[in-house]
Formats: sequence, structure tokens, C-alpha cells
Amino acid sequence: MEEVARRLNIDAPRVLVLNAGYQALGIASIRRAVSLVMAGMAEVVEDSGEFLRTPNALYPVPAVIRLGKMVRPRVHKVRLERRNVFKRDGYVCQYCGRPARDLTLDHVLPRSRGGPSTWDNLVAACRPCNHKKADRTPEEAGMKLLREPRRPTQALWLNILEVPREWRGYFRS
Ligand SMILES: [Zn+2]
Repeated sequence: MEEVARRLNIDAPRVLVLNAGYQALGIASIRRAVSLVMAGMAEVVEDSGEFLRTPNALYPVPAVIRLGKMVRPRVHKVRLERRNVFKRDGYVCQYCGRPARDLTLDHVLPRSRGGPSTWDNLVAACRPCNHKKADRTPEEAGMKLLREPRRPTQALWLNILEVPREWRGYFRS
């Protein structure tokens, strides 16, 4: 038991929260999830296999909980920022497909030509590709995007993040 009682960051968002109808609502911290369960407002659907140590007991950490009542799902908007574009693009250059440590943001239609900073005009690009493309469109530069950039939906977002095994099955692709 000692071994499984690892130090956990209980404020990390780690627990999938389902609506009463088993619809994925969002992700809660361990602290929030456990308190919802303890307050009788949610039930544990899947355990994570990890334990939270309290002075007198080991408390199993849920991987998935289900709320007792239906709540209206909040539409979750992913913020348009650099690191989220990289995350959406799986941390690989959208031109050569290689993962890069020092990714850059590329405006597909260059900023100098009026290209906006929007989800569908920003992609992750490695430095060599960004340099090669310069102030040209992909067509002009003879470069092809791996896929068309889009605003990520919440479901897509959860697919990109590492979804724990216990969560799969609650998302339709
Ligand atoms: Zn590249």
C-alpha cells in the first residue's frame, strides 16, 4: 500500500466529470472530484488505481466521476495562444511533420499580406520551415500543410491531451 500512495498533486486537473447521463462535461482536480463524491453529489465510475493518503486512510483517487444531477454543459473555449496552437498541432511542424523543440508560430497567409492571427491561420512550424516559407503562402512556397488548421473543439482537445485509459469510451471521436 505504501508504494501506491504516491505524492499526488491534488489540484491537478485529472478527473473526468460526467453528467448524470454519462456525457463528458469537463475535467476536475482530484480535490474537487473527491469533495463532490464525499458530499454525495457524484459517484465514482472508474478508479485511477492511485490512492490519496489521509492521516487515517488511503482514499482511492477516481479517474471518472458522474454527477448525480444533470447540469447544463458549459461550452469550453480553448484560448488562442501560442502554446495551445502547438498543442493542437501535436507539437510537430505542420509543414515537414517533424517534432521540434523550438517550434515557431507561422501565419499561413503571412501577416504582411493581411493574414489574421486566428485558429485557422496559425500553425506550428519548425524554424527551418518557417524560414523557408518566409512571406509566402504555402502554395507559393511549394509547401503543403499536414492538415487544415481549425479551432479545436473540446472533444478534439481531449483527444490531443493524453487521455487516460479509464476515460476512453466516454468520448466519441
Ligand atoms: Zn518543418
